[in-house]
Amino acid sequence: MTIEGIASDPADEVETDYDVVIIGAGPAGLSAGIYARRAGLNCVILEKGVPGGQVLTSPMIENYPGFSEIPGMKLMDTMAEHARKYVDIREGEEVIRVKSGDKFEITTVSGKYSCKAIILATGSTHRKLGCPGEEGMTGRGVSYCATCDGFFYKKKDVVVVGGGNTALTDALYLHSIECHVTIVHRRDSFRADRHLFESVRQRKIPILWNTVVEEIRGGDEVREVKLRDLKTGTTSTIKSDAVFVAVGEVPSSQLAAELGLNMDAGGFVTVDRSFRTNVPFVYAAGDVSGGIRQIVAAVHGGAAAALSCFEDLANPYYRRTE
Ligand code: NAP
Repeated sequence: MTIEGIASDPADEVETDYDVVIIGAGPAGLSAGIYARRAGLNCVILEKGVPGGQVLTSPMIENYPGFSEIPGMKLMDTMAEHARKYVDIREGEEVIRVKSGDKFEITTVSGKYSCKAIILATGSTHRKLGCPGEEGMTGRGVSYCATCDGFFYKKKDVVVVGGGNTALTDALYLHSIECHVTIVHRRDSFRADRHLFESVRQRKIPILWNTVVEEIRGGDEVREVKLRDLKTGTTSTIKSDAVFVAVGEVPSSQLAAELGLNMDAGGFVTVDRSFRTNVPFVYAAGDVSGGIRQIVAAVHGGAAAALSCFEDLANPYYRRTE
């Protein structure tokens, strides 16, 4: 079978037989790579873009032990550099198909791999608001990445939508680069860390509680946002040059579905305490497996998945029951 737009010849060749192929080079995948190689497993990390995952877009990380304040990109560059000491990270190598059999067969945009085990660390993507104007003006005022796009709206009016850690971190970052920020949140309280809320309060960033975005208006670019107050039902518009959407994540679990992995109602892969899935020799870690979705948790998951994989493949004496 050929996939549209993809040359068939390189994909016909099985490149190498690995013990384990790790899919995704965010914190979970990088940690899995370090632990798998150190355990003696022959492995590779396949990454569709560049290493780092969503942390790359986080302006500042303040809760990863050892770093009281570090930009997301710097933390992930450091982590990737560490991982490269052990394991080959293939960038731009998006996995388009996985097949199980005697061995797993993985087809990427540029080749084929076979392996005895897979660690899925495919992460998650941004949830959309789903309101009129959002899709049409994405990249023209609607953004899912404050660090990438905030700079273009210096001294301009911007709306940040959401009430989690991402929304508040984004609002603080945009405020720090002199954007005029308003936070729009559908409840009367945040789920974000108290520490971030205090910072927002100190900086007197306006918050519109119990409010949702009904429409993003403009044309070539965002000009105003139509809002609805959920308590009173009244609608209003505010002038805005950009809308930063930070309303959570949806797991990237398409490959998990192909492998027949169990998932919860939100599409997150179900794993046990050792990060094993319901399919033997398939493990999942990081955002794709849900949980608290913190960098420390992803790093733990990747390490635990790699060690479980080692135990299953190597069958070490200390795990044998017979
Ligand atoms: P999140 O914690 O899931 O929060 C999403 C927010 O968006 C919630 O406030 C939610 O409202 C709101 N929301 C969801 N759907 C919406 C919709 N259709 N319309 C309007 N609002 C909507 O997502 P996140 O902030 O992206 O964080 C994801 C994970 O990464 C979390 O585990 C978070 O702790 C972590 N993270 C951590 C840090 C940090 O520690 N520094 C930074 C960033 C992210 P409700 O509250 O009403 O559901």
